[in-house]
Parts: sequence; C-alpha cells; structure tokens
Amino acid sequence: APAARIGDREVDHATVEGLLEMAKSGDTKIKVPDYTGLAAYRAEGGYQLLEKVRSGKVTAETLMATMQSAGLRGLGGAGFPAGKKWEFVRSYAGPRLMSINGDEGEPGTFKDRVYLERDPHRTLEGALIAAHAVEAERIYFYMRDEYPAVLHILRTEIAALEAAGLAKPGFIELRRGAGAYICGEESAMLESIEGKRGLPRHRPPYIAEVGLFGRPTLNHNVETLWWIRDIVEKGADWFAGLGKPGHPGIRSWSVSGRVKNPGVKLAPAGVTVRELIEEHCGGMADGHSFKAYLPGGASGGILPASMGDIPLDFGGELAKQGAFVGSHAIVIFSDEDSAKAATLNLLKFFKHESCGQCTPCREGTGKMVALLQKDGTLDEAGLRDLEMVMRDASICGLGQAAPNPVNHLLTHFREDL
Ligand code: SF4
Repeated sequence: APAARIGDREVDHATVEGLLEMAKSGDTKIKVPDYTGLAAYRAEGGYQLLEKVRSGKVTAETLMATMQSAGLRGLGGAGFPAGKKWEFVRSYAGPRLMSINGDEGEPGTFKDRVYLERDPHRTLEGALIAAHAVEAERIYFYMRDEYPAVLHILRTEIAALEAAGLAKPGFIELRRGAGAYICGEESAMLESIEGKRGLPRHRPPYIAEVGLFGRPTLNHNVETLWWIRDIVEKGADWFAGLGKPGHPGIRSWSVSGRVKNPGVKLAPAGVTVRELIEEHCGGMADGHSFKAYLPGGASGGILPASMGDIPLDFGGELAKQGAFVGSHAIVIFSDEDSAKAATLNLLKFFKHESCGQCTPCREGTGKMVALLQKDGTLDEAGLRDLEMVMRDASICGLGQAAPNPVNHLLTHFREDL
C-alpha cells in the first residue's frame, strides 16, 4: 500500500522514510560517489583513441565498419545498429548535431547511472568520437534531474575536458530533464532540448534526417557510447564474441525484484532470465519461487516463468511473444506477487506519464486502469479492443507498448484474474 501521496503520485514507505531521514539529519547535500576523474582516466590511456580519431589515424569509415562487425546496438531501448545510424546521419547534408539520451526513466533501469557515477569519461570519450565520425557541430547531453550526483559529475568533468583542450568550450552542452518519462522518447527529448513541451514527433522524417533544430541528428544512449572505446581498442571480434551464439556482444542488465543480489549485471546478449537469476543474482530471494518477469521494464510486457529460457535480445523469440528487451531492465516476480496487481501498477504509470497528445493512448491507458480496477467479472473483450486500438493508432512507443502487460496478463496469468 502507498505510504503517502505527493500530488497524484503514490509514494512508497521507503521513499517517505528516506525523505524523513534527510529532513531530520539536515543533510540535503548531494552525495557524490568516488569516480574516475579526468586525470585518472587519462593515466590509463583515456582519450588516446580520440586523439587518433581526430588526427586521422583512425578514420570514420573504420569506426563505422568496426561498430557494424562488433554488432553494437542502441542500448537505450530501440536496439538500432550503431554503425548504421552513423552512416545514415552522415548521408544527410550538414550542419549536423548530436544528442545523448541520459533520461533513464524506464522503470527498473539504472545501468546508465552506474556508469556515469563511476566512469563518466568512457561515455564522454565515446560521445566525442561519435560526434567526430558524423561531423556533429555540438553535443547536447540530456540528463535526468533525478540523478543530482551525475549532474554534478558531468558539470565538473565537462569543464575539465574544456580546460584540458579536449573539447571546445560549449561543444558539450548539458541539459536537465524535468521528470517526464516521455522525454526519454528520442523525438520528445529533442523537443524538450529545443525548449518546448516534450511531445513525441510523427515519423517520418526520422531524426537522422530532421532532428534537433531541424538538423540531421545522431542520438545515442549513455551505455552505447560507453562501449565505443573498448570495442575499437580490443577489436570488434572481442566484443561480438562476448555474446551467446547468434547474439553478439555483452550488455548491462538492470536486475531488480525478488532476487538475492539485485543490481547491474554484465552478461551476454541472448542470456536467459533463468541464467540471470541463478548465475548472476545468487538465486531467488529466500522464501520466494520464480513466477514471472518483466523482460524490458514497464514497456516490454510480463512473461511467466515457463518462458524463462527465452534468449533475451532485440527481436527473435521475445518479439514473437509480443515482448521486448528494451533498455534491459529485468524485474523478477515471485509466488508472493499478483500478475494482475503488477499489470495495474504498470498501467497506472503509463496513464500518469502519457503526454496526452493522441486519443488512443491518453484515453486508452485510463480506460484500461478503470477496467482492471472494476469489481466483478473482468471485461476482457473491452481490454482486447483497447489493446488493438492503442497498438495500431498511438503516435509513439508509449501508447503502442502500454497494452503489452495486459495482453500477457490475459494470455498467461488466467489464475490471477
Ligand atoms: Fe503521447 Fe501517448 Fe500519444 Fe505517445 S502515444 S504521443 S505518449 S499520447
């Protein structure tokens, strides 16, 4: 049960206790964790690759070919091949821009925060390399305001880069998000950077052609950029070989829920949820048995334990089940949890975060919540109708994906209805 309400949001007990603790102690300062700063990063070879790229020793063509053979995909959720994206952006006439999506708002996702709080320069070097490859004139780094320590680190380290002459003053511009989930959707994020309300754009045109301020724009997630240096220095085969057969590469999985050791786990692309639980998280929490999981945060659906051996990757078997891996946020449920309660929780989230621009999503999420909350026999036909309309007619991924957990609830969790 929620402990309190702030506006129309329900706040849990842990949050309330944390806020009370902070207020009591008077300690409202940002706690900045120990991280690798510029000097330490350079001491272990950091920014040498950027210098080679800038001096022409490593060309943009080589970089793009390396990303392609490594199989690096966009790790913010969409999974678009990184090298292909660079090629597309370069194919449109300049001037071009770049954006970094640090609006890690998908429930259950926290990997980007971990990387930026420990090793921010690996992402910044990757960004400067990518910007050079597509000849971008400026990088806009969109960072969620809910990560104050990351914002502090980025402000400090971007200034250090400028002072060291590695980035021209103003070349990397830090922008703060203001807490809207929809601003993690790339076109809504661009609107927000432009100073407008974060409403997703219709596509085409895609942002590679008409992006920020109408210019061709390369947009990347924090983790995607984080891998670039290692891939070029250690080789595309090294990276590709870290995955399971047919699933190149390694990924960072944010695992939470009913496991013994939740956290960010480095595991191959194509790993199964059962392997994540047993080999990376120390098994299920005591007294809990594995019942269900979210393969991709709030949006990727909810699958039963009987589907716990599906390789987790973009497309493939997951897509056939109407699910996706998205930003690799895995939430584990046990026999103590109700799939219906979890689905209702997710739908309330989507209702709250819908930008309201299009009717199927704005009205559909609310109606789904109402139908799931209604006493008596569940109106399955009504839910299925809404599912179809939202999937077919919503403008962006939020409205299109919101019915995923409802579909799975009705298909796989009949005993919970
Ligand atoms: Fe906004 Fe939802 Fe429509 Fe996306 S699908 S544009 S979030 S109303």
